[in-house]
Amino acid sequence: MYHVRRVNIGKTPQLDELARECGMLYSQTLLFFWRTVRKKDIWLKPKHLMRLFTSKKLHAHTADATVQAFFASLQSWRTRRKTDPTAHPPRRQRWYFRIEYKRSAMSLVDGKLRLSNGKGNDPLVLDWPWDLPKTVVIHWTGTQYEAIATYEVQPHTCTIGEKVAGIDLGEIHMAVSHDGEQTYILNGRHLRSKRQYRNKLQEHLGKSIERKKRGSRRRKKLIKSKKKQLKKLKHQIADVEHKQTSRLVSMLHREGVQTVVIGDVRAIRHDLDVGSKNNQKLHQWSHGTVRHMLTYKAERHGMAVALQEESYTSKTCPVCGHKRKSKPVGRVFHCTNKRCGFTWHRDGVGAVNIRRKYLDLGPVVGAMASPTGMRYSPHVRVARGEKAYLREAATALA
Ligand SMILES: [Zn+2]
Repeated sequence: MYHVRRVNIGKTPQLDELARECGMLYSQTLLFFWRTVRKKDIWLKPKHLMRLFTSKKLHAHTADATVQAFFASLQSWRTRRKTDPTAHPPRRQRWYFRIEYKRSAMSLVDGKLRLSNGKGNDPLVLDWPWDLPKTVVIHWTGTQYEAIATYEVQPHTCTIGEKVAGIDLGEIHMAVSHDGEQTYILNGRHLRSKRQYRNKLQEHLGKSIERKKRGSRRRKKLIKSKKKQLKKLKHQIADVEHKQTSRLVSMLHREGVQTVVIGDVRAIRHDLDVGSKNNQKLHQWSHGTVRHMLTYKAERHGMAVALQEESYTSKTCPVCGHKRKSKPVGRVFHCTNKRCGFTWHRDGVGAVNIRRKYLDLGPVVGAMASPTGMRYSPHVRVARGEKAYLREAATALA
């Protein structure tokens, strides 16, 4: 499992020069590769070109990584073209390219990370109050350079309990969990409002850009501003998703959950057509991101993650097993079986049923506690240090 740390490192002539060197190497590789395909009909392999193209200004492994980067994008095109006929192979030369350092080119002394650029060249030195990473990739963000450090981490093995929690992903509520006793609801309204605002903004700005003359200064200005505003919203949306999923996962961990079962909604996008307005909602519903976040965060806590096919889980009564013909209306679930009449919070029902389906359990007996809502709070710190995590685990064990 990997952990990633991103650090902004500004812009220096040294960084420019290194990125330029990588760009040159990348373009060289690309040109040579396609020329060989064209003239000799030979598709070269990374090992051939890595031997051929090196640089006097880069660490040997950095040069290798640049050549490998070309082959990586070639590979992703090969995979993509199976489903996407418009996919293009990498053809474009790069003036600048990302700089990748492997472990062999790094050393850490007194809070300074020294990244070697080969014998005879000045190393790149970064302030680094953290551990030695596995790899460092430096790329241009549009305003400055950013270092992305990757760490290999062992998942936590300290488990607190044996519970199984079902998680239902939704649009109004980002996620609802039920672990047999407690039900937690991650409120998604804040997220939805952000997304709605994004759609409106996109439409509005798109229209005003259309009205301006092509190539005019005004138009360029508007395009730039649109990009900036959309980027900000994208970051805000990611922030909400991160904070909410982290909160839920650490809550479940504290409650002694060992297995997280997520309702599998992947089929929804393909075969459901519910009108253009609702379609837009469904397509932007970020269950992909949320599921991904829940998965890796749960695994980081040492929990197992399973997917459960979730047909009828929102329509079935957890007490008598009766299937409603229609989706429940409003926020309350009513069982339509007259002898049962079970009534509960609609959003919890899905999570209860996903858990039941996974464990192959019979009907729920006894009263269930009301769900606890978890609202987005902007000032929750997401990144947790190792110590804070252990402290938390220790208090939960006590
Ligand atoms: Zn019922």
